[in-house]
Amino acid sequence: MKSLKKLFFLLIIVGLIGAGVFYFRDTKAPELTMTPGSGSIAKKSTLLLSLNDEGTGIKTVQVFVIQGANRSPLLQRDFPPQTKVADLELDLSVLKLKQGGVQIEVNTTDQSVYHLGKGNSSQQLFSFTYDTRAPIISIRSKAHNFTKGGSGLVTFSLNEDVDKVGIQFGSYFFPAYLQDAGYYACLIAYPFNVKESEFVPRIVARDMAGNERQTGIYYRAKNKKFRHRKINISDRFLTQKIPEFDDLAPDETDPVKIFLYVNREVRQQNRDKIAEFSHQTSATPLWDGAFLRQPNAASLARFADYRTYYYKGKEIDKQVHLGQDLASVAQAGIIAENSGEVVWAEYLGIYGLCVIIDHGLGLQSLYAHMSQLEVQPGDMVTRGQVIGRSGATGMAGGDHLHLGLFVSGVPVQPIEWWDAHWLRDNIESKLK
Ligand SMILES: [Zn+2]
Repeated sequence: MKSLKKLFFLLIIVGLIGAGVFYFRDTKAPELTMTPGSGSIAKKSTLLLSLNDEGTGIKTVQVFVIQGANRSPLLQRDFPPQTKVADLELDLSVLKLKQGGVQIEVNTTDQSVYHLGKGNSSQQLFSFTYDTRAPIISIRSKAHNFTKGGSGLVTFSLNEDVDKVGIQFGSYFFPAYLQDAGYYACLIAYPFNVKESEFVPRIVARDMAGNERQTGIYYRAKNKKFRHRKINISDRFLTQKIPEFDDLAPDETDPVKIFLYVNREVRQQNRDKIAEFSHQTSATPLWDGAFLRQPNAASLARFADYRTYYYKGKEIDKQVHLGQDLASVAQAGIIAENSGEVVWAEYLGIYGLCVIIDHGLGLQSLYAHMSQLEVQPGDMVTRGQVIGRSGATGMAGGDHLHLGLFVSGVPVQPIEWWDAHWLRDNIESKLK
């Protein structure tokens, strides 16, 4: 009899422990995160609500949107048992919200029986600015004259902060940079290979909430014809260059094929690499007056010469020469055409040993085929400072300098930047 009683009490104790474990097995409230969790949002913004309950799983969620005295339900959801995680997209476009502050309230519970069966709950309030207005663009600069292959500057002001601002046409985008005086400066190119009908620059500004405005500018675009040139590739040139190109075209053995691989594939890779440097630019101009032409240098190949390459009288390739070739004496001192910061000083494929200098606002100069470099990346150089010696490294038949100028990675003709009048009328007067 005594032992039966003992067993009975033992069962009750085990039962109580079991019930206790069941009751206390999940005392942790669900976790909730909102992305974004603050800042500016717009009608078309998507907010991602993530729920997570490692214990018994999520049971319910309710979302309310509060603006002033209005508290509107946005979402109500019940989850099946064992739902440990849930990602929900909140669509604000179903509500009529006004410009200004808005709060989003999230209430969620789990499947636990804790708190006398109510389970654990979390409540969180997220504060945002509801922004329905696109930035207002006020154009400051006048006289936007562009020549095919050349550069130009547009300045404008905005009435709010933006996460994207610049000028676009076709697949081109030129970033604008905020100046100390509070306006934006955008240096653009009229690319040598873009048709007049496709060159329609528009300012684009997108605010933090994603509202975007586009505005056209008044401009005049001048066409320019470029030269056509024949280039004969001799066996002498190939014999001289193949050892240097061998590393660039490891899969080819035929000299003409090696040349073609370097002239096409490596050329394109090098241009892509130069375009990447355009992001490493100063937001304010680093240049100082007109660009300097290399002293005593004769002009050889020009910007945007359309070249047809021949080997033993047969056409083998076509490329466009996107720089200005200048030559004086062998191993001539090469000067920085203007002040700026060195972003590259190393070997780069067809350009051989070369230097790239950033002048700010996306404007960069390239000095190619050099025999010796006297600067390093990170060096600040001044207009006229010697940066190395000319040579014939890379795709060069003889000692000369290939000078390239780029606006946000797009090649432009250097001749405008050498001209103090052009610079004053088209650039510097707009930066005052
Ligand atoms: Zn060249």
